[in-house]
Amino acid sequence: MAHSAVYQVPFAMYVNSDSSLRRSVFKGYNVPFHDKLWASGLSLDLKNTNSGPRSRPIICMSVQQASKCKVAVSPVSLDDAKEPPMHIYKNKAPYAAKIVSVERLVGLNAPGETCHIVIDHGGNVPYWEGQSYGVIPPGENPKKPGNPHNVRLYSIASTRYGDSFDGKTASLCVRRAVYYDPETGLEDPSKQGVCSNFLCDSKPGDKILVTGPSGKIMLLPEDDPNATHIMIATGTGVAPYRGYLRRMFMESVPTYKFGGLAWLFLGVANTDSLLYDDEFSKYLLDYPDNFRYDRALSREQKNKKGGKMYVQDKIEEYSDEIFKLLDGGAHIYFCGLKGMMPGIQDTLKKVAEQRGESWEEKLSQLKKNKQWHVEVY
Ligand code: FAD
Repeated sequence: MAHSAVYQVPFAMYVNSDSSLRRSVFKGYNVPFHDKLWASGLSLDLKNTNSGPRSRPIICMSVQQASKCKVAVSPVSLDDAKEPPMHIYKNKAPYAAKIVSVERLVGLNAPGETCHIVIDHGGNVPYWEGQSYGVIPPGENPKKPGNPHNVRLYSIASTRYGDSFDGKTASLCVRRAVYYDPETGLEDPSKQGVCSNFLCDSKPGDKILVTGPSGKIMLLPEDDPNATHIMIATGTGVAPYRGYLRRMFMESVPTYKFGGLAWLFLGVANTDSLLYDDEFSKYLLDYPDNFRYDRALSREQKNKKGGKMYVQDKIEEYSDEIFKLLDGGAHIYFCGLKGMMPGIQDTLKKVAEQRGESWEEKLSQLKKNKQWHVEVY
């Protein structure tokens, strides 16, 4: 299997004053954020970008009790619309965007490969946090000769301003779909996933056909900036939450001054499989009153019964708090593989019963109040 990208430390991390490290590790630009120099790790090639991140001011602003420095974003008019952009580019007339960068996000001991892919849409395919792009991989659909492949959806992992904070890029978090022969246990490249492999193998400058944006289920409700958001992810399901959290804690967005609680539960196989961990750990340090971050590492940690630690075990561990927060109006989100939901639903049902509540009634109330958001695939 061809691996396109060299292993790099994932996204946005503090760069010390050792310029040799800065030179050798980070080909991209550095962004000042909270009085430290942050490096994106991206190699941006946005020729038309007139206000590069280097010139972006850091803005010190009051978030709840703390004064933090955030990155300025533009154009702020991206926040003016009352409704999210929807289906600007359709399957029959997709937008030809350009790959900016592809980076492997996971370490050598992670099972499989997950990449962070930055796409230059030139500001032409705007989106909101929590939406998805469609991608039409190159080539012919084997099931419909003469026709393009079917579109594949990917949750957008950046805010509307993109990783370059200028509204011209969108980032995806893509796991390479591979096929293992059940008899031999060997990988069969003839059956590997078409679109995820195209994306993970693509190179800066490559053309990519995108559609969308689409999806309203996972939009971040911003009417109450002090709300609680409980975010549950397995693997690449973390994508929309990365967008939410950058909007809450990294960017200076005039229309959204988050002062509530964001609580992320991330389930992956092991430490090497963690996604955007540096970014999230930084928020934990800077916003301990506004951010909680719990990791479930199925192949490294044990649950209280001695079995593998999955996100539902973490949910069970904190169930009292979670139920109280839900009773107080918290939003709860689930994103990732379809298979995550039955285990989670069973856990929530069990906890509800232990509390003398009917889970069915509670769930229907949460749905009615628009507190329950699920996007699994
Ligand atoms: P496909 O070519 O569609 O193949 C699908 C699977 O079948 C693969 O595992 C492949 O190995 C296997 N296969 C192929 N040929 C055979 C064969 N002959 N026999 C048996 N098996 C075979 N994915 C992400 O990585 N990140 C995201 O953020 C993300 N967000 C999503 C959001 C939404 C709303 C939805 C619906 C899906 C999302 N997905 C995401 C999943 C994504 O859309 C694709 O389904 C995924 O990347 C696989 O597509 P593919 O083209 O690589 O695989």
